[in-house]
Amino acid sequence: MDPIRYSLSFPAPHTHYVEVRAQVPSVGRDSVELSMAVWTPGSYLVREFSRHVESVTAAGPAGNALRVEKSAKNRWRIETRGAPTVTVSYRVYGREMSVRTNWIESDFAFVNGAPTFLTLAGGHARPHEVTIVPASGWTRSITALDPGPRFHTYCAPDYDTLVDSPMLIGNPEVHEFLVDGTPHVLANAGDTTFFDAPRAVKDLEAIVRAHKEFWGSFPYSRYVFINLMTEAGGGLEHGRSSVLMTSRWATRTRKAYLRWLELASHELFHAWNVKRLRPIELGPFDYEREVLTSSLWVVEGMTDYYGDVLVRRAGRSSAQEFLDSLSDKIEELQTTPGRAVRSVTQASMDAWIKLYRPDENTPNTAISYYTKGAVVAFLLDAKIRSATRGERSLDDVMREAYAHYSGTRGFTPDEFRALTERVAAIDLGAFWRAAVEGTDELDFSEALDVFRLQFKPAGGPPNGKPKAWIGATTKIDSGRLLVAQVRRETPAFTAGLNVDDEVVAIDQVRVRADRLDERLEQYLPGDRISLLVARRDRLLTLDLVLGAEPPRTWRLEPRPA
Ligand SMILES: [Zn+2]
Repeated sequence: MDPIRYSLSFPAPHTHYVEVRAQVPSVGRDSVELSMAVWTPGSYLVREFSRHVESVTAAGPAGNALRVEKSAKNRWRIETRGAPTVTVSYRVYGREMSVRTNWIESDFAFVNGAPTFLTLAGGHARPHEVTIVPASGWTRSITALDPGPRFHTYCAPDYDTLVDSPMLIGNPEVHEFLVDGTPHVLANAGDTTFFDAPRAVKDLEAIVRAHKEFWGSFPYSRYVFINLMTEAGGGLEHGRSSVLMTSRWATRTRKAYLRWLELASHELFHAWNVKRLRPIELGPFDYEREVLTSSLWVVEGMTDYYGDVLVRRAGRSSAQEFLDSLSDKIEELQTTPGRAVRSVTQASMDAWIKLYRPDENTPNTAISYYTKGAVVAFLLDAKIRSATRGERSLDDVMREAYAHYSGTRGFTPDEFRALTERVAAIDLGAFWRAAVEGTDELDFSEALDVFRLQFKPAGGPPNGKPKAWIGATTKIDSGRLLVAQVRRETPAFTAGLNVDDEVVAIDQVRVRADRLDERLEQYLPGDRISLLVARRDRLLTLDLVLGAEPPRTWRLEPRPA
């Protein structure tokens, strides 16, 4: 099959546009239909990438203009008039700084496949070839795609690989390192002034080695970390690369650096878990509509758990740092009221409308399948170790799942559960019903015993005086104190305090926007206060009975013995 041949050029990168020209085989048809993805794998939201496409034109071999008709929100139909190849030109605006969108500026371009390439509808199996024409002064292009016959030309065997291979073009700092003979690349762009690259490379190398020891071998022949210091956050996994977005200060404090190492480790773990070992629904992808699966908790939860575990096994975090990261997850889950409303499988199914579309009520009705998935992984790990007297662990589940289900088909939820039960050699029905498919409170006792941990005693309030608490979170907006979030079962919820209410006074005395805590210190839990608020500018008074600030009870520590 003839490839679609694209060229990407950046004649005026400061205007945030990439110019695309595609030579599309017309396969003997009177018209061809081109489509653009509406989402990109790993990021479960319909993003309508075609909204940034403009000036789509088409020409025959002699340069004669061909008719282009928009046939759907993300599709274009082109009359071929018998031409064997049509040349399609368009431009794409890219100025959204996220791991799944495009960013083009005078210094560099970060280009993702889904928001950039129109392809033949239904012709995803065809090879796709890309030639990059860098902007003036740019010297390098970095991608996990195989290099083609010319400099800055790359080949994807199919559309999936093209979409799975983001590109960084400009003058990135490129650091190459080998792990057991397999090349890995850390490509830094953005403001690299303060980033300690030699240290990052050394630690990354140790983490990559820990991943290989975990799985047994690399599933790729070369791997690229695209690391953008652009004051944005997040990561996105790909089969032979990942994208990390971070701050210019990422190596300057221990806390920020550990987050960066954990992020890199998380995305690398995905090279196995989800890019190869995957739920049956996640491939081959329909790029034009939502793809639902109840197994994102396996995809993201296990990955989040092992992302941290493998940083620890690589010796790049201390035992307490590992426990603190795990405690953050447990604490987040156990203080989110939505854990009683949605199970981790429901949260997976609803990723498109919940996790990726949060609002002020989200904590009341939903949990994150990342967070609960990681906590469930921790409990499951303990359960397997306990049932097999330490002979086997969740590691074996992941490795055996990879051996069985990393082919073209993927696993069903029942198959994943059955495999876990085989490894544990016990029936996990009750655990699955309670912790995976249900919303029961999780039981940590077995995990604490197995790993010889305890939750830190909460201790008394500072100065022995319990702290009065309204249970709403607030924000300051233009000097006004506004309610940002009201969680269920809190004094604010019971009193009828609403999101966006402006807190004006407590007991007839004005509350300055930055003084709410100071004012609450004048009261004790159980005191009744009158709260003057402005709701859409109308003043009203609410009676509120103050509660006591809940102690932090979900911090793990080793048992003394
Ligand atoms: Zn992930």
